[in-house]
Amino acid sequence: KPTILPLARHGIRREQIHPCALKVTRSLSEAGYAAFVVGGAVRDLLIGREPKDFDVATDATPEEVRRCFRRSRIIGRRFQIVHVYCGNDTIEVTTFRASQGEPEADEDRVTAEDGLILRDNVFGSQAEDAARRDFTVNALYYDPEREEIWDSHGGVNDAKKRILRMIGDPETRYREDPVRMLRAARFAAKLDFRIDPATRAPIARLAPLLERIPAARLFDEMIKLLLSGHAERGVRQLRAEGLHHGIFPMLDAILDDPKRQPFIHAALHDTDERVRNDQSASPAFLIACLLWFDMNTAWQRLQDQGEPAAAALFAAMDQVLEQQRDTLAFPRRFDGMIKEIWALQPRFEQRSGARPYRLLTHPRFRAGYDFLLIRAKGGDAPQELADWWTRFQEASETERAAMLLPAK
Ligand code: ATP
Ligand code: MG
Repeated sequence: KPTILPLARHGIRREQIHPCALKVTRSLSEAGYAAFVVGGAVRDLLIGREPKDFDVATDATPEEVRRCFRRSRIIGRRFQIVHVYCGNDTIEVTTFRASQGEPEADEDRVTAEDGLILRDNVFGSQAEDAARRDFTVNALYYDPEREEIWDSHGGVNDAKKRILRMIGDPETRYREDPVRMLRAARFAAKLDFRIDPATRAPIARLAPLLERIPAARLFDEMIKLLLSGHAERGVRQLRAEGLHHGIFPMLDAILDDPKRQPFIHAALHDTDERVRNDQSASPAFLIACLLWFDMNTAWQRLQDQGEPAAAALFAAMDQVLEQQRDTLAFPRRFDGMIKEIWALQPRFEQRSGARPYRLLTHPRFRAGYDFLLIRAKGGDAPQELADWWTRFQEASETERAAMLLPAK
């Protein structure tokens, strides 16, 4: 059933595959199993991008895979995969599935909805595995031994034409898993692909189906979009598809509020730069950006009600995080960092005596300072203040002493 394309038709050489993934596919094929590099890695190599990670698909069951590798572990229950460890890297090995429509699951989701769907561990053939995937360019199977691509849905051609096309009937596939609509927007932005008209058409009408998706899964998907290195384009794509209304009420309000736009634009732009330069870009930092205006408003309101500034700040932080948690479902483990970044902001204004020196040694100084730079770009803090901190960090001791402002 699949078209098998030789090296000359696709140009991906085995040397381009991560050595760990290569080791895994080799061991599996030596043990008599079929083994392919699949998904994003093949797609990215085809269009000349560096793959983020290399996933492997095989006809060996999870148990059989585990027996092939000393350092490996079965992960998940409803949707079992095997992690094979190799140095500091982990290769995800998935057994061919026959299941239609079930999204890739992570461990949390498996326990959360445990018992709901049992057929995810129904194994299938390579062709069935290809048919359950979302887009044609995500359903390419690369055999490193033969340097062949197995292409059942025309993904290689679509990659060449830079088209994102749903496998099968788009509406049916979106109804099976509405998150695929968000994935369409994300991949179009990330890969700079056009969404095929038939794939695109049902999205605006089906967007309300996303309301039924657990908030945690939407949050994961939103973070992937925002940390893809193409957040600006991604958000524009979401809006173009009509997907930003009602799904992330917060994002909705933020994107539609002209007062916030310079700041949000600066934050997304900065995040994109960081991701592309392999600098750290954390979900917590991003949430701190997205909620900064609400936090400030709440802080101001509490101060107007007579609360002292410091107490009002901490109360406002709690208020805003709790309010957003229902709709945005971000894990509590981000709270600490978000609060630290926010709480540092007023401290940047204190530029006399020992305080600036103390601030420099704060473990979150860097994140707080990066946040300040974004505020300055977005017109929410004086550029002069940001520049002062930039110089203060680089200055010598005598220069620093001269920079301090007189105590008030
Ligand atoms: P990225 O580089 O962003 O990780 P990816 O293609 O690897 O892109 P993943 O979300 O890691 O995307 O998923 C891996 C593969 O699993 C996809 O390429 C696709 O074939 C399949 N897949 C993931 N989610 C879905 C889904 N909701 N429906 C169908 N197939 C999916
Ligand atoms: Mg991936």
